[in-house]
Amino acid sequence: HIPVICIDGPTASGKGTVAAAVAQRLGYRFLDSGAMYRITALAALRAGLAIDEGHEARIAAMAQNLPVRFEGGKVLLGGDDVTDAIRTEEAGMNASRVSALPSVRTALVQLQHSFRRLPGLVADGRDMGTVIFPDAPLKVYLTASAACRAERRHKQLISKGFSASIEDLRADLEARDARDSTRSVAPLKPAQDALVLDNSTLTIDEAVNQVLAWWQE
Ligand code: C5P
Repeated sequence: HIPVICIDGPTASGKGTVAAAVAQRLGYRFLDSGAMYRITALAALRAGLAIDEGHEARIAAMAQNLPVRFEGGKVLLGGDDVTDAIRTEEAGMNASRVSALPSVRTALVQLQHSFRRLPGLVADGRDMGTVIFPDAPLKVYLTASAACRAERRHKQLISKGFSASIEDLRADLEARDARDSTRSVAPLKPAQDALVLDNSTLTIDEAVNQVLAWWQE
C-alpha cells in the first residue's frame, strides 16, 4: 500500500510549510488540498458565479473538471498562472465558503486521491485524515494558538511587501476556522487516531523532526 502522511489543522498553523518539508525529506509527493478549494473558488468567481448554495451544482461541475496543473511551484488554471491570485486572504475566505458546499467536496475527492503515488504522499488540509485518506498510517493534527497564527501570517504578508493589522488577521482566521469547524460535511477536527502537535513555540525544524520521528516509530 502506498504510504500517506496526513497533516491537518486550522488556518496558518504552519501545516503547509511542515508538510512540504516532510515531503522533501522523505522524497514523497506533496498534496496542498487547500489550493484545490482556492482554485475552485477563483474559477467560479471568474465564471461569474457567486459562491452560494444556488450555484452549488454548477460549481461542483467545474471542480470535477478543474483544468489545474501544479508545475514546479507554480499553480496553473487553464493557461493562467494563478499562483499569487489564490494566496490572498480573500481567496482563503472564498475557499472556505466554496469548501462548505458538499457536492464541491465530493467533486474534488478523485483529484486528491490521484496524488497518492509511489514512493508516498504527504497531504496537507483539513480532512485528509478524517475523510480523504482514512487509512493513512500517520495522521498529524498541527495546531497553534490564534495569537501565534495571526502573528505568523502577519510576518508572511509583511515579507511579501503587504500591510495588514494583526487584529484583523486574527479576526479573519478565527472566522474562517469557525466556518470550517461547524460546516455539515468534513468539519475541521482531529481524526480519532491523530497525533496532536502544538506548533505555537516550535521552530519549523522541530515540528518537521517530530513528524519524521513519529513516522519512523
Ligand atoms: O489550507 P488553506 O488555507 O489553503 O485552505 C483554504 C480553505 O479551504 C480552508 O479554510 C478550508 O475551508 C478549505 N479546505 C478544506 N479542506 C481541505 C483543505 C482546505 O475544506 N482539505
